[in-house]
Amino acid sequence: MVMNRRMFLKGLGAGLTALSLKDVLLVRPGWAAFVPPAKTKDAQVTTSICPFCGVGCGLVAYTKGGKLVSVQGDPDHPINQGTLCSKGQAVMEVVTSPRRLHKVLYRAKGSDRWEEKELDWAMKTLAQRVKATRDASFKEKNEAGVPISRTEALASIGGAALNNEECYLITKLARALGIVYLEHQARL
Ligand code: SF4
Repeated sequence: MVMNRRMFLKGLGAGLTALSLKDVLLVRPGWAAFVPPAKTKDAQVTTSICPFCGVGCGLVAYTKGGKLVSVQGDPDHPINQGTLCSKGQAVMEVVTSPRRLHKVLYRAKGSDRWEEKELDWAMKTLAQRVKATRDASFKEKNEAGVPISRTEALASIGGAALNNEECYLITKLARALGIVYLEHQARL
């Protein structure tokens, strides 16, 4: 019998399969002992939401001793059912990346450099500027004398990482300030 190319490849495949099975079944009967334990073994499990876009995929975060060891798609989440896009798969770097910013960076008006500031300073400064802007721009009535009670100098932008309750509170605050421009990251 003359061996053609197809027969040769078939024989090669069968031989390799047999060799692999022999390796697993005969030479290494305790092969499972060679598999390292999953890094999520005995970790604390916390569910969360991906902060990157409006799809809002569910995540499962695994922590050990307060340290994040893995983040995976939540198989029980109705939106993504365990899957994550490439951006979501890299979400752990939000916490672990050495390039993550840990301080507030502030560039003053007209300045060409960033300064490191404390978070308390940033929060207080923001609150003062929001109040000053609102006070300077608030309109009680329009040109026709109709009450409008609003400011057009401020806007509010929501994000996918916000949950229902946070969105409710932010919207309440914005409306109370008289903000009429309310948008969401997912629509931009
Ligand atoms: S995993 Fe991807 S699609 Fe899902 S919310 Fe994050 S960025 Fe959006």
